[in-house]
Amino acid sequence: MNTMPEQVLGVPKPDWMSDDLSMLQDMAGRFMETEIAPHYDRYEKQQVVEREAWEKAGAAGLLCASMPEEYGGAGGTYAHEAIITEAIGHTGVDGFGIALHNAIVAPYILNHGSEEQKRRWLPKLATGELIGAIAMTEPGAGSDLQGIKTSARKDGNHYVINGSKTFITNGQNANLVIVVTKTDPAAGAKGTSLIVVETDEVDGFERGRNLDKIGLKANDTSELFFNDVRIPTANLIGPEEGQGFVQLMTELPQERLLIANQAISMIERALAITIDYVRERKAFGKPVIEFQNTQFKLAELKSEATMARVFVNHCVEQHLKGELTPTTASMAKYMLTDLQCKLVDECLQLHGGYGYMNEYPIARMYRDARVQRIYGGTNEIMKLLIARSL
Ligand SMILES: Cc1cc2nc3c(=O)[nH]c(=O)nc-3n(C[C@H](O)[C@H](O)[C@H](O)COP(=O)(O)OP(=O)(O)OC[C@H]3O[C@@H](n4cnc5c(N)ncnc54)[C@H](O)[C@@H]3O)c2cc1C
Repeated sequence: MNTMPEQVLGVPKPDWMSDDLSMLQDMAGRFMETEIAPHYDRYEKQQVVEREAWEKAGAAGLLCASMPEEYGGAGGTYAHEAIITEAIGHTGVDGFGIALHNAIVAPYILNHGSEEQKRRWLPKLATGELIGAIAMTEPGAGSDLQGIKTSARKDGNHYVINGSKTFITNGQNANLVIVVTKTDPAAGAKGTSLIVVETDEVDGFERGRNLDKIGLKANDTSELFFNDVRIPTANLIGPEEGQGFVQLMTELPQERLLIANQAISMIERALAITIDYVRERKAFGKPVIEFQNTQFKLAELKSEATMARVFVNHCVEQHLKGELTPTTASMAKYMLTDLQCKLVDECLQLHGGYGYMNEYPIARMYRDARVQRIYGGTNEIMKLLIARSL
């Protein structure tokens, strides 16, 4: 019988894991197994998940689960997003970009948007009619977000946006893009504003290349270009200009925790499939699991993964209470993704040459894991943020 990723560590369920959330875990796992996994090789080849899959996720209640019901969501909390995100990792369909849509894009609108904006956009994000993206990074500015150049000049009751963005997750599918702009280029961070671009409604917006990555191939990570794109001033997020940096700083801890949830779910899957593999595979007349090196290696990895799981559960609990600090979220992102890359590498080693073959899931995990140390703020930037607390 196959080892289940959800059970490989034996960590007791956290207190916040209600019966409802257990049911969601089963349902989301079944959805990923039956609706996404069978098509995943095709998604990887075409480098995009079809909109139909998004709409199916919407119909199943897996989009915007943490948004209030009055805006079309399921009325849940961050715990719902954590469960759905982990179902993706446990199934190995990590390039299906709904976690970013659900737990990064929608919260900007819920937490900082006007009542009219929430009513206009959240219900469509919940069905998948709108697919969300957030465009911060530019060719010349990634870690140094204050250095972005995309401008939004006011012209009557419109903004005119000019600039280019790159590495944008869901960039080919997205038709609602939160664009990080400078409304006052002279004012530094205080001149930064978030503006929603509904791409179906505007002229001057162009999608660039769907970028060819080493991993997460099913995700459409793209360049986006804005040439004199006219956007109503009503699409500014927040009551006035210049709030963008504060809004980003408020939401980034949840993004970092989300990446930690992604990491722990892949860690559990990698351990589960590796334990099954070394039980089956024989060398020198006995299963590979009987070599002491294999046992010690897996014992070390299971111990580290167990500590990581307890920490992630703790961080989710803190976040649900509104007490997760930016420092702790940065620790979770950095520690979990470093461990993810190390553990997947060691698990691949235990597969021998088969681990290097793309037909084995551990090979895909190896490629998919690497970016986790880079996006959402690199792990070096996480250490800078943690160091500020010393
Ligand atoms: C697959 C993928 C998906 C992404 N999705 C999105 C998305 O949806 N939206 C979005 O806006 N962005 C996205 N990004 C961009 C991502 O957030 C950036 O790549 C990341 O923040 C790093 O920026 P950079 O690539 O410009 O690297 P740079 O900032 O140029 O960094 C280069 C190196 O210098 C190091 N460095 C930089 N500054 C410091 C410092 N002060 N101290 C020490 N070291 C430093 C970095 O850690 C890194 O090792 C995505 C990236 C990838 C690869």
